[in-house]
Amino acid sequence: MLTLTCPCCGVAAEETELVGGGEAHLKRQGPGSDDRAFEQYLFLRENPKGVHFERWRHAYGCGKWFHVARDTATLEVFGTYSAQVSAPPDDIRAVIFERRPGWSWREFA
Ligand SMILES: [Zn+2]
Repeated sequence: MLTLTCPCCGVAAEETELVGGGEAHLKRQGPGSDDRAFEQYLFLRENPKGVHFERWRHAYGCGKWFHVARDTATLEVFGTYSAQVSAPPDDIRAVIFERRPGWSWREFA
């Protein structure tokens, strides 16, 4: 079972206490964007086998959203962090680089 530590309240919550919110760090597209960029924002999502950044909500706890860096194949969690940032923090990236040398994803390499 997946267990994530909520960075907002500090509780180590089991998956049944959480609700997944999909991919993290999406670039929002507004009315001024072209159709391709808006389609990508609305419908297209990454689904990697390996390191991924996701949004989760501590639904049966503090109720707050947060981000998780984890491996989708092994369920290994690299860390959780605030949903108020637009990119993974350096300490989370350092953990990923230490455990997955050569890893890169989008501009977060
Ligand atoms: Zn919480």
